[in-house]
Amino acid sequence: MGLLTIGTFAKASRLSPKALRLYDELGLLTPARVDPVTGYRLYAPEQLDQARLVAWLRRLGMPLARIQHVSMLESAAAAQEIRAFWAQVEADTAARRNLASFLIDHLSWKDPAMSSTTKPLGIRYAALSDTGLVRETNQDTAYAGSRLLAVADGYGSAGAPASAAAIDALKRLETDSIPAGDLLNLLEDAIEQAKHAVHGVAGTASSPEQAGTTLTAMLWTGSQLALVHIGDSRVYLLRDGALFQITHDHTMVQSMVDEGRLTQEEAASHPQRSLLLRALGQGADGSPDMRLHDAQQGDRYLLCSDGLSTVVPTDEIRRALSEIREPEQAVRELIALANGCGSPDNVSCVVADVMELQQ
Ligand code: MG
Repeated sequence: MGLLTIGTFAKASRLSPKALRLYDELGLLTPARVDPVTGYRLYAPEQLDQARLVAWLRRLGMPLARIQHVSMLESAAAAQEIRAFWAQVEADTAARRNLASFLIDHLSWKDPAMSSTTKPLGIRYAALSDTGLVRETNQDTAYAGSRLLAVADGYGSAGAPASAAAIDALKRLETDSIPAGDLLNLLEDAIEQAKHAVHGVAGTASSPEQAGTTLTAMLWTGSQLALVHIGDSRVYLLRDGALFQITHDHTMVQSMVDEGRLTQEEAASHPQRSLLLRALGQGADGSPDMRLHDAQQGDRYLLCSDGLSTVVPTDEIRRALSEIREPEQAVRELIALANGCGSPDNVSCVVADVMELQQ
C-alpha cells in the first residue's frame, strides 16, 4: 500500500488536517514524506496507530509535550504513563471539587443570627489523650478550646513534637477574630504555618523523612464548624442518634477500598493499613480536605486518632457518645473502651457539643 494523502490519513485517524499539520510542526507526528514540489504531506499506513493514539490522548486532555513523550514509549510503558497522568487528573479534580463545595457552602450560607427566632449557639468540649497500653510514649496531641478542636497523631523519631507543633500553629486561630469571608484564607495560612512548624521540628530529628503528623481540626466560627483534615485521624458526627464519619482517611488501604481493590474488612486487617498518603512532614503530601458544617443544636462531634477507631467498634463509639452527657466523661469513657481493647496505639479523643448559649 502506498502513501496516503493528508485528507485520507486525516479521515482514517479521526484527526483534522489542521491538527496533523500542527503535530508535524511540533514533531509529534512527522509525515513519511513531504512532496518537495507541492509541499503536500504524505503518511504511511503504519503511522495510523500512532495517529489514533495521539487522537485518543488529546481527547483525554493530555498536554502535547506529554503526548510526545508517551508516543515514543513501548506499549507497557505508555500504559503506565497514561495511568500516572490519569491518577494526577483525578487527584486534581478531587482537590478542586473539595474547594468548590467549601466555597459554595461558604457563599450560600445565611447567618441564622439575623433571624430573631434562633438563639445563639456555642460549644462545650473536652479533650483527652492517652499513651495506651503498649507504646512507651504518647505521640498524639489532642486539644479543645472555645474555638479550636484538634487531634494530631505524630509518627517517627520526632512524632510527639511534630503533633504538638502542628496544633500549636493552629492555636493562633483561637485568639484572632475571624472577619466574615476570610475563613478560607485564614485556614490556609494556619495550615501553612503548621506545615512549617512540623518541618522545623522534624528537620532536627535523626531521620527527618520518617517524622511527621496527621492533623484533623475544626474551627468554631459562632455558627459553623470549618473542618481541616490531613491523614487518618477522624471526625464523627452524632446527630439524632446516628453516627456519621465525616472525614475520609488518607491511607493507602482506603484508596484501595475506593478503587474496589479491597473490601472494608480486608482493609481493617491489612498489614499496611496505617500507611498514610497524606500527612504533615518532610516529603509528604500535606494538602488538606476542607469542609464547612452548619451547626445544629444537639450535634455532637468526635475527633479521634486511629488509636480509637482502629480498635473500638463503631457501634460501641456510637453508644458511648449517645449515652454519656458530659463531654469530659465521654472522652474518659472512649479512652477506657480503647484500653479495654488492649490499646496497641496512642489514643486521643475530642468531644464537642453544639448547644444554645445561656443568656
Ligand atoms: Mg495512631
